Order: sequence, then structure tokens, then C-alpha cells
Amino acid sequence: MKALITGGAGFVGSHLAEALIERGDEVFVLDNLSTGSIENIERLKKSERFHYTIDSVLNEPVCAELIDRVDVVYHLAAAVGVKLIVESPVNTIETNVHGTEMVLKLANKKKKKVIIASTSEVYGKSTEVPFHEDSDLVMGPTSKGRWSYACSKAIDEFLALAYFKEKRLPVVIVRLFNTVGPRQTGRYGMVVPNFVKQALLGQKITVFGDGTQSRCFTYVSDVVGALVKLAQNDDAVGEVYNIGNDGEEISILDLAKRVKERTRSKSEIVLIPYDEAYEAGFEDMPRRVPDTSKLKKLIGYEPKVHLDEILDNVSAYFTSDKGRV
Ligand code: UDP
Repeated sequence: MKALITGGAGFVGSHLAEALIERGDEVFVLDNLSTGSIENIERLKKSERFHYTIDSVLNEPVCAELIDRVDVVYHLAAAVGVKLIVESPVNTIETNVHGTEMVLKLANKKKKKVIIASTSEVYGKSTEVPFHEDSDLVMGPTSKGRWSYACSKAIDEFLALAYFKEKRLPVVIVRLFNTVGPRQTGRYGMVVPNFVKQALLGQKITVFGDGTQSRCFTYVSDVVGALVKLAQNDDAVGEVYNIGNDGEEISILDLAKRVKERTRSKSEIVLIPYDEAYEAGFEDMPRRVPDTSKLKKLIGYEPKVHLDEILDNVSAYFTSDKGRV
């Protein structure tokens, strides 16, 4: 197989590239390094089956040529991370909407299969956990910037499904739930790399709000395994799948304690009001738990890596040369 990964120098994209190279595929990466990094794909450069282009998905001739060369496109290029979204809303909306428009338009010319990475953010502030793929999406007002991310990804989903229904383009949509692991940067606010770094450096561990909000964390290799299987399964075409870990919901305060314990850190855990952490009137999701039964039924999905192992691996990454804490 030949695959194009947009955003392939990013956190999830680079792990996916590695997995595809390992199983013998030819991999093309298109990434503008806006949030990804060349170091993420450094060791892949040795493979003759690995190719990369530093450019934007919005560069039409470049994107078109790459799509022509492959059998499947994993569209992972996006602006992600709540902090980034709150700070650069124009860039978030434009990157997420125009990038997906471009990829779908070009893939449609040759009817190449596209896997579209979406996010659990699309469930918005729905409290009806666990979230099922057909659950309602509950958005906040447009005056609150954070919802622009969820809405931009929801538009991506609508557009991909429209291409499938109207033009028979084979698409698969995946909603990723708090994916974590080595190479994820804390720069865009993600909680696990932030807490682990803070703990390792003996800095204060910053819990936003009162810490009762909870999340389920999924290890990147479990996500990558599901992506590869979905891309190969014809029954996945035209469908939406949650990819997450439904077994280990944890409050953010307990996560801070767990990180402290696993890293044997002396860091103090502090509570920071949301207004200070993000912006005035910031709304967080109280709980975010996936219903993964649809994915389990199709590909026998079962997340293998549990929270303690995840935290140990992230901590090992930050203490290695590559992680540079
Ligand atoms: N969070 C936190 N401290 C941090 C970063 C994040 O308490 O330094 C919280 C954040 O407010 C949210 C949760 O951790 O409740 C998960 O945040 P993240 O940005 O990783 O992902 P989200 O679930 O918001 O997409």
C-alpha cells in the first residue's frame, strides 16, 4: 500500500508513519511543521519507502501530486489543542476547514480513500456520557472561541460525509479521544505532557478549574492500530468511529496526583481558575467518555496500554535525549 499522511510530522501522524513503514507500506508525509516537527520523522528518513514534503495541504499542486501517488490518504493535518484554538481562532478555523476541503476535493478526482481525523471535541458540552457516534453534538455560543474548533471539525465531518453520499468518495471519519504518548508536546496545552514535564522539573502541577472534570486517555499506538485497521476495512466506508479508551476515566485532579506518584515528584499541585488558564468565561467539558462499541464490533478493538504505562512512557520520553525536558 501507498499512503499519504497529512500532518505526518505531528504527534499522531509520525507514529502512524512509523507503523505503516514497519508493515512494509510506502509512506508520503505532507506537513508544514506548524505544530509538527522534523525530529518526529527523523529516524524514518532512513527508509527508502519514506518520503516527506514540507508544505501546506493548501498548496494545491503539491497536494494533488501526492494524492495521485497513493492508495489512501490519512488526513491528520489540523490545528489542535484548546490553548491554540483560544489563542489563534482564525488560523484554527481556516486550517481545519480549508485543509479538509482541499484534501477531499483532490481525493475525489481519483476516488482515493480518505481517513479524516476528527475529535471528541465535536460532542461539545453534552453530558450524556458515554458519547456514541450518533449522539447529539452540543455546542456553545459563537462568542466563545473554544467552540470554533469543535465546529470546524464538525464541518469537516459533514463535508466528508457529503462527498461520500453525493459523489461516492470512500471516506472514514474517526473521532479521537485525548490521545497521548511520546512526542506529544505540552506547548498547546495538552494535559498529560504538561503535568509530566511539570512533575519532572519540580514545577507546580497546574490543575485548571477544580480538577473534578474527567477524561479517558488513549495511548497513541492503540489509536494508530485502529486507524490502520479501519483504512483496510470496506465496511468502515461512510461511517464515523470513536477511537478512545472507555475503561479508565480519571479526574484531572487525580491525574495530577497519579503523575506525581509515578514520577516520584515533589511538585505541588495547584488549582488555577479557568479564566486565568484560558480566557474569561471558558467552558470546559465535565466528562468525556467514548462509547467504543461500534469500533469493537467492526475490528475487535481493545485498547492495550493503560494509564500507568502511558504515564511511564511519556515520562521516559521527556527524560530521554529526544524529549529534552
Ligand atoms: N488541563 C489542566 N492543566 C493543564 C492542561 C490542561 O488542568 O496544564 C485540563 C483542561 O482544562 C481539561 C483537561 O485537562 O479539563 C484536558 O485538557 P487537554 O487540553 O489535554 O484536552 P481536552 O480534553 O481539553 O481536549
